[in-house]
Order: sequence, then C-alpha cells, then structure tokens
Amino acid sequence: ADLDPETRRLTERREELLGGSYRLFYRRPVHLVRGEGQYLWDAVGEKYLDMYNNVASIGHAHPAVAEAVHAQMQRLNTHTRYLHERILDYTDDLLSTLPAELEAGDYKAMFMCTGSEANDLALRVAKTHTGGTGFIATTEAYHGNSELSSSVSPALGTGQPIGENVWLLPAPDSYRTGIAEIGPWFAEKIRAAVTDMESRGVRFAGFIADSIFSSDGVLPGSYLGEAVDAVHAAGGVFIADEVQPGFARTGAQFWGFGAHGVVPDMITTGKPMGNGIPVAGLLARSEVLSSFSDTIPYFNTFGGNPVSMAAAQAVLDVIRREGLQQHAQEIGAEALARFQELGTAHSAVGDVRGAGLFIGFELVKDRQTREPDRDLALDMLEELRMRGVLTSVAGPHGNVLKLRPPLPFGRQDIDWAVGALDESLKALR
Ligand code: PMP
Repeated sequence: ADLDPETRRLTERREELLGGSYRLFYRRPVHLVRGEGQYLWDAVGEKYLDMYNNVASIGHAHPAVAEAVHAQMQRLNTHTRYLHERILDYTDDLLSTLPAELEAGDYKAMFMCTGSEANDLALRVAKTHTGGTGFIATTEAYHGNSELSSSVSPALGTGQPIGENVWLLPAPDSYRTGIAEIGPWFAEKIRAAVTDMESRGVRFAGFIADSIFSSDGVLPGSYLGEAVDAVHAAGGVFIADEVQPGFARTGAQFWGFGAHGVVPDMITTGKPMGNGIPVAGLLARSEVLSSFSDTIPYFNTFGGNPVSMAAAQAVLDVIRREGLQQHAQEIGAEALARFQELGTAHSAVGDVRGAGLFIGFELVKDRQTREPDRDLALDMLEELRMRGVLTSVAGPHGNVLKLRPPLPFGRQDIDWAVGALDESLKALR
C-alpha cells in the first residue's frame, strides 16, 4: 500500500525494534492516539468506529476506571501476601454474577494478569483434580500463549505444536455442518474423543471451550448442555473460557456459558475485566480448586493487586450503573436484525448470527454450497477500515467478520456499520 511518511516510519521502526511475532492489522496500518466510548482517533484526527475491541468493553478511556486506578495507585499498590479488602470485596461482587443456584462457598477465585495465565492455571488444576492429562478443545480455539494454554490453541497455526494429549474437535457449527440439532452431534464427538483417548491410555482431564466459540467463527446458541454432561460422565471437568463472551457482552446473560444452561467447573476470564488494566481471573468450584491448592502454592506478583482490583471493581460498577448488559441485549438485537437485513440483499453473505454485541457475519462464494470466501473477508477488512470501521475475521476458513464493539455501541453506530458493510460489499462485488 501507498503509505504516508509517518506510517512508513513507524512501521519500519517496529520491524527494526520488535520481535517478528507481532502482527500488524491492515495493509495501511492504523496509528491510534485516542479513544472514547466506542470511538477511536488516529494521529491525523480521523475518527473510527471500534467494532472489535472487547478489552475496552465499557468504552475506551472510561473515566470511572481511570479515576479508580489513579486513586488506588496514589495510595498503595502491593501483592496478595498482605491483607487487603479490595480483593475480597471484588470477589464477593464477582461471585454474585454466577448462576443463582450456586451457594456461598461453592466457588473460589484466583487472580492473575492475562487470560493465558488463567487458562494455564485452569488446565493445571484440571490435571491435579482428575489425575488425567487428556484435554479436548476445538480446531480453531485460542486459549493463550503459555506453553500449556498454547497446547490447546490450534488458532496459532501449524507452527504451534498441539499437546500430544490434546484431542481437537470441529466446533458445533450448525451453519457449516448443516446440522440443526448441533448439541447431540457435538456431545457424540466428545464421547468418541474420550473413548479414543482412553483406548490409547490417556486419562481424560477436561474440555476447554470458549462458550461462544469466538475463534471458531462465533457460534451463539444453547447447545452445550449434553456435551458438558458427557464430560462429567467421563470424569472430566468443563472449563468455560469466558475471555471473549463474558462480562455482559452477550446481553441476555452476564456470562457466555449462561446461554447453555450449564454450570462450569472452572471459569476463566481476562480481557474485559479491567477495561484495559491487566486483570484476569479463575473462578473454580471449591472442591476442584482445593485438589490443587492443598498442595501447590500460587503466587502471581501482579495478580489481584489493589490497583487491578480497583479497575475491576469500577468495571462491574459501571456495567450495573450504565445498564450495559441490558443495553447489549437491546442494541445487539437491533444491530443483528439490521445486519441480517443487509445480508439478505447481498449474495456474498451466507449467515449472520449473534448474541448481544457479539455478531458473526459470514461471507461465502455461493449461498447454496456455503463455500467460504476468505479472500472477500480479508478484502472487506480493508474496505471497512477505509470507511472507519475496525474489525477482524474468525472461523476455520477465516471468512467470518467478527463484530464485537465496546458495549456503549449505539443506534447511530449501527447506521455507520451497516453503511460501511453495504458500501464495502458493493465495492468488492
Ligand atoms: N482465551 C480467549 C478465548 C482469548 O480470546 C484470549 C485472547 N485473545 C485468551 C484466552 C488469552 O488472553 P490473553 O491475551 O490475555 O493472555
């Protein structure tokens, strides 16, 4: 692409200074300098609509988080080996978001700084609790960048070795498989994987899944119940990776797993928890966690510190005060209807699906055969970017636009997004 001198200079400095594993978005990279709510501005003052970031979940640069962090930082920041109320008050509050049938003491919390660390610990706990080593994940899953969490993260590509005791299953995708009753289909895959694993002498430890299957193409619905029953029947644990669907995003529920009517053995979360401050968590059934914590200490220098907890508390407070869960449900339903309506007008759109403010927009070469159109999806990202709309792709074929804006996303933004999608589809036809 034809880059302006400043963009070229920064791009070259990155290449010179940073490890090559960093990947830039866009043929014409975006240089952001400011954010507010669902909007971003670049160095030359162009405004963008953020349709991708679920870290700044309650809105970029939210003053409540900035103030909470500032006040706590001025007073004290330390670690979890001293007594402090913040971590306790926050945990009380966070546990109150869990399904009502759970009782006080059923779950306990651990805190860390990244989703990768949360999943890493969950996988370790699952092994200790079950005595097994075998895990099931899906073929496009991403669960993190540590040795253990990357071993269940095939989304990292063929260069990343998958754990030798990891069985990968295709995600429960009704559109791609054409199977309406996807729950029983997926449960059968789980049972078959466990049988295969155990026939090879690998004891089953658990199933880890992002409950909306974000990297597998965004698969909202209510279909995991039978699969989770199958996991339990086989002696394994279910780890719900809520890094993407959690924290009010899916609207109807606070947590993504809520749509499935299941109660996970462990819940991991990160990204939206601190609105940009590195905070992550593991919520685990007390008896599952104790199999680990009775014998192995866990210390995470920055995890659960008062500043992180202040940020996390501010996020929960804002979600409630600003009614963001209900907003996500209402505006998400409106956005979904508008995107679906747009989809019917363009033959390249195969399926539009979503829950709250988490929407997948699937592009195909042919509506009948449902043949994925990855090239179109990649070109769409560039066209959308030129119209100020930032997003990315997901799915095993990389042909699903992942529309996942900060929760303050409003009605006027639907118009912007629909207009940009419409124009981009027309431009690429
Ligand atoms: N799980 C899921 C579902 C994720 O999307 C991510 C981050 N993309 C992670 C885990 C890892 O989180 P982190 O980058 O904070 O380590």
